[in-house]
Amino acid sequence: RAKSAGGNRFELADEEADARAITRHGLTTALPTALDRGEFFIEYQPLVHLGDGSVRGAEALVRWLHPQHGVLGPDRFIPLAEHTGLIVPLGRWVLEQSVRQAREWRERHDDAGPFRINVNLSPCQLTHPGLVQDTVDILERAGMAPDALCLEVTESALIGADDALLKPLRRLADMGVDIALDDFGTGYSNLANLRRLPVSILKLDRSFTQSMQRFPADPVDLKIVEGIVSLAHSLSLAVTVEGVETGAQAEQLRILGCDTAQGWYYARPGPPERLHELALVDATG
Ligand code: C2E
Ligand code: MG
Ligand code: MG
Ligand code: MG
Repeated sequence: RAKSAGGNRFELADEEADARAITRHGLTTALPTALDRGEFFIEYQPLVHLGDGSVRGAEALVRWLHPQHGVLGPDRFIPLAEHTGLIVPLGRWVLEQSVRQAREWRERHDDAGPFRINVNLSPCQLTHPGLVQDTVDILERAGMAPDALCLEVTESALIGADDALLKPLRRLADMGVDIALDDFGTGYSNLANLRRLPVSILKLDRSFTQSMQRFPADPVDLKIVEGIVSLAHSLSLAVTVEGVETGAQAEQLRILGCDTAQGWYYARPGPPERLHELALVDATG
């Protein structure tokens, strides 16, 4: 884009690209040992039931506290971790921490109803042969039932997935682990294809939520979301919406029949203590 806009901007774009490449190189070098150095941490963002406003769970979102660059979001290092293979031990670590955290919440808020933890899986983890056994072991060590866990896999990771890729997901789903299709609506998956996938939850991408910003929203956007929700429900899938930033969006999405919501309107991702507070407010009304 900048390259076609004249000489100066051309140089600027190149310099930026260089700076990014240098940082990327530095990150790639530091990444393999960052896990051993304890530089990763997890923030949790509540999942709220649109019908009654109760907190039903949380999504685990990993961050890297880099000694020079400060806190880095997953978009900065997950692709590198996938590239270098670190994603497998990192993903296992995230899963173990999150499941333990979920058990703590359940113990402290046993009156607040079933609490579930959502953990993102990258495609590399799906093809790793240890996935099912690692998950079983982690749940057992934490004394948690499989239905306390939901694994999020992006729609794009499952487009055209063959049976070899779906098999571990199917085994996990058979055990009672929920599988959610993340960022749904951004890929080009055939809706009829959903029947083939062992998923029980659709997570509607933030782009849909954004189009609900105005109240009333664009009637065509409403129709699209309404159609997706009705198809999902007819296939017995629950619908979660991400990126809810305003009360108007939440209301519109509730009217359209979405089940659960997540977004800054309820809470930004934060440390586990914040969820304790939210769950307490929730339990006491
Ligand atoms: P995602 O799974 O779709 O997660 C939702 C993203 O939306 C998170 O970004 C979250 O902070 C952000 N978000 C939540 N509410 C709002 C809102 O109201 N408005 C806006 N604008 N954004 C909101 P984050 O934390 O930067 O994570 C980005 C992506 O990184 C995640 O997208 C997920 O695909 C990936 N990721 C995060 N943690 C892990 C992990 O442990 N393993 C793997 N493989 N991927 C992860
Ligand atoms: Mg997710
Ligand atoms: Mg998502
Ligand atoms: Mg997303």
